[in-house]
Formats: sequence, C-alpha cells, structure tokens
Amino acid sequence: MIRVEHLAKTFGSLNVLRDVSAEIARGEVISVIGPSGTGKSTFLRCLNLLEQPTGGAIFVDGKDMLDPATDVTRVRQRMNMVFQGFNLFSHLTVLENLTLAPTRLKRIPRAELEAKALELLRLVGLGEKAHSFPDELSGGQKQRVAIARCLAMDPEVILFDEPTSALDPTMVSEVLSVIRNLAREGMTMIIVTHEMDFARDVSSRVFYMDEGVIYEQGPPAQIFDNPQREKTRVFINRVRSYQAEVVSPDFDLYHLNGELERFFDKHALDAMMRGRVLLLVEELLQQYKPGLHQAPLTLRVEFGEQSRRISIVLSTSAAAARPLDAEAAAEDFSLAIIRNLCESIASGVEGDQQVIRLLLNSA
Ligand code: ADP
Ligand code: MG
Repeated sequence: MIRVEHLAKTFGSLNVLRDVSAEIARGEVISVIGPSGTGKSTFLRCLNLLEQPTGGAIFVDGKDMLDPATDVTRVRQRMNMVFQGFNLFSHLTVLENLTLAPTRLKRIPRAELEAKALELLRLVGLGEKAHSFPDELSGGQKQRVAIARCLAMDPEVILFDEPTSALDPTMVSEVLSVIRNLAREGMTMIIVTHEMDFARDVSSRVFYMDEGVIYEQGPPAQIFDNPQREKTRVFINRVRSYQAEVVSPDFDLYHLNGELERFFDKHALDAMMRGRVLLLVEELLQQYKPGLHQAPLTLRVEFGEQSRRISIVLSTSAAAARPLDAEAAAEDFSLAIIRNLCESIASGVEGDQQVIRLLLNSA
C-alpha cells in the first residue's frame, strides 16, 4: 500500500533522514521506535507531506505522492495524523472538533456528519462528552477525541506521533486500548512510540530508526528479543557499559577493579554478580596477557537494565586474540573457569578486530 524509496530530508545542513526505504501493506501496524532526535517525527511528517522531502519517493497504491499534481489535502485525509499534543480547538465543542474538517472537505449533510461523529465518540468511549469543551476533559479523553476526529476523515492510514507521551501515566492505557481496538479492526497504522510493551503486542513489524535510516526492522519478537544489530540491542536492552583499554601486560588490575566496583554501585549489582564479573575479567586478562605484547585490548562490561544481564565484550587485533570458544586443552584451568561463568561465548570479526562476546550466567 505504501512504498517509500530512499526518502531523504535535510533541514539546512542537518541531515535528518538519509535514506529511508520501506514497504507497508494494508492492515499492517508498524511501530517506529528509536532514540529521540533520530527523525521519527520527520519520517511521519514527510509521509503525509507536512514536510516536503528533499529526496526519494513515496507511493501510495502506486500513486506518486511527490508529484506536484498530487492533491496534498487529499493525501493528508488518507494518511491522517494524531499528534502528541492533541491539537484540539478549545473554542469548539468535542462534537464540533469532529465535524469541522469533514464539513469543509466533503459535501455531506450536517445531520449525517453529526450522527457519524457521535458514533465515533462512542467508539472511543466518549459519547457523553459530545457537548463538552476540550478543557473540561482529561488528557486521556482529549487524545481519544483526537483519535475520533482523525477517524472522522475516513483515513486509510493513521499516523500516530507519540500519542501517549504528553499524558499522565494513569491515562496512557485508555488511549492505547483505543489504538489496540483499531488494530484489531484492521486499520493500517504507523505508530511512533516509546511504549515498548504496547509496540510488542500491537505491531506486525517494528522499525528501529537510527542514523537517519531504518537501521533494523522485523517482527516484534526479533526486535525486542533478538535484535540483530548493535545499536538496536543497546537501545532495546537499555545497555549501560563501562569500557577500558588494556595496553600492556603490566596493566593495573586493582585500578580496573576499582572502576568496575563504581560501575556496579551505579547499577546496584548484587555481590554474587560482582564477584563473577571480577573473576571473569581477571581470568580473561590472564588469557590475553601474551597477546598484549602485540596489541592492546578493549574490554567492555555491558549491563542491560531491561534484561539485568551482563556481557563482557573483548576486542583486539586478530593476531592477539585467543580462541576462547574453540576446543582447548582440558588442563587449562583458567579457560575452564571462564566457560563455567558464561552462558555463551561468541566471536566475530569487525574490521581488523576480533570481537569476543561473553554472556555471563544469570543464575
Ligand atoms: P524524533 O521524532 O525522532 O525525536 P525529529 O524528527 O523530531 O526526531 O527530529 C530529528 C532532528 O531534526 C532533530 O535534530 C530536530 O531538531 C530536527 N528538526 C526537526 N524538525 C525540524 C525543523 N522544522 N527545522 C529544523 N530542524 C528540525
Ligand atoms: Mg518525535
């Protein structure tokens, strides 16, 4: 239904969207997640032409949206947007907020428009508020009115830009429930959100945006449980890390341990996990000591706030690396300790570096 090809958007010298490509089928629910400032809002705003893209193409049902002959008003009606800040007219009643745009755009008798508006208000649970003014409503109610107003335009796609970010936490769920119901009825939606549990259970696919592109996309199970790329993983697991460069075989282990203790304090790690990390680090450095004559070693301890798991990532030039994950002599006691402390040990190559990732046992 929607095909985006190499979409680009710059603001002056700021390259916000570099190269965004995506295809979205009718009935799909796409959640767009990612750190703030990565162009999620800009992406939505380009889709319905609130921003003019500086490059690329957007097709809806095969029709070129950036063709100058395209009726922009019609595009916005087909891909209608719900904003973080509701954007209701405070001098109009709830009902009038719903009928305003359709009255202007379509030649439909007023009574019919009002009947439909009332029906939509009932759909979002606000039938009794038809004659109230927005200021008499709570944030959650206002946002539900904004969703009903969006539906009043008979959109084929709804674009939500952080629909719950401006809400008091107690009102988030009533708005998310309304969006869930729309998903169940087959509405095509693109939702920028920070509500990860919601994104996980409502979406058919998740787009993780970073660096001006859709950096990783996939079904929720992939993005949330098994992200394939580094930045996605760091974002999803809210990974905090401590990194040290070990440059010689005579490194100061006491200093390193002191730094690690500070990192553990900051993240309230229990004594057992601390002990394991310190032991593992010591044994790893022992393994790598011969290699340190040739090349320095980067050691990173990562702690996932979400998963509460710890990983240790080592990188060094391939020549200095040790085959921790290969079969090794059974009498290597240090290696046996390392393996016992870890649930998994994986190695890979990044540039000229050998990278070894060790996931600590959690229990
Ligand atoms: P997100 O929604 O992911 O937080 P945005 O799309 O809002 O990110 O913004 C991405 C970047 O583009 C930010 O650095 C923001 O300051 C900038 N930006 C957004 N809109 C404009 C604009 N109209 N003019 C200049 N810069 C903008
Ligand atoms: Mg935004």
